[in-house]
Amino acid sequence: MNEFVEIKCSESSAATPPEHAEVDGSGWSARKVLRWAYRTYEDGIAIASAFGVEGIVLIDMAAQIRPQPRVFVLDTSFLFPETYRLIEQVEARYGISVQRVLPALCPEAQAKLYGAELWNHDPDLCCHIRKVEPLQRQLADLRAWVTSIRRDQTQDRSHTRKVTWDPKFRIMKINPLADWSGERVWRYVRKRKLPYNPLHDRNYPSIGCVHCTRSVKPGENPRAGRWPGFQKTECGLHTPGPDAPLH
Ligand code: SF4
Repeated sequence: MNEFVEIKCSESSAATPPEHAEVDGSGWSARKVLRWAYRTYEDGIAIASAFGVEGIVLIDMAAQIRPQPRVFVLDTSFLFPETYRLIEQVEARYGISVQRVLPALCPEAQAKLYGAELWNHDPDLCCHIRKVEPLQRQLADLRAWVTSIRRDQTQDRSHTRKVTWDPKFRIMKINPLADWSGERVWRYVRKRKLPYNPLHDRNYPSIGCVHCTRSVKPGENPRAGRWPGFQKTECGLHTPGPDAPLH
């Protein structure tokens, strides 16, 4: 067993579903979901964003309800330069400081422990180290997290509820854009003249880490550019089951 396996993650303070885990927000608009969530969780709520186009919509909407909303990004150290620049643009536009949540292992330490280019031979493990464990740590002192996932993005997301209990991270999960289409997201962005990642204009509809994202060809699924060469479609943040086994 290596050093990383020994790391114990903090447990969420909300170990059992709270009463409002049963709230039915299915008919609520995105704004109503957000208004309810900010009223209910006050300072114990934060937006998790990878700074895709949906995340920008969410931050913009949240800022109209709660000025300077709390936002964090799982900074794997492998994001595109365009993404890092967009984060700074968003910070300036909304007067916020986006929290960069870093993995326990820097890239060099990861390579030393698990070998070079882990993403090429075990992307589940790499995502666990660089995304899932940091998220687990980050959520430990929150009551709810807000995500920008949509039902039509992947099979795993097709039953996403707008207000739900997240059994994996044992915290309330708020998904205001669950029933939005990609077209609707872009209509909102254009109408509000929001900044977005320029890679979207270069056939990158879904943007993750540099090592695991390519542009898509016409007709391809928008997420076909994620983890090319692997069956993997999720990094493990939005799947209900246990994460990748640690070797
Ligand atoms: S997306 Fe790729 S590089 Fe990023 S954490 Fe996952 S496997 Fe690693």
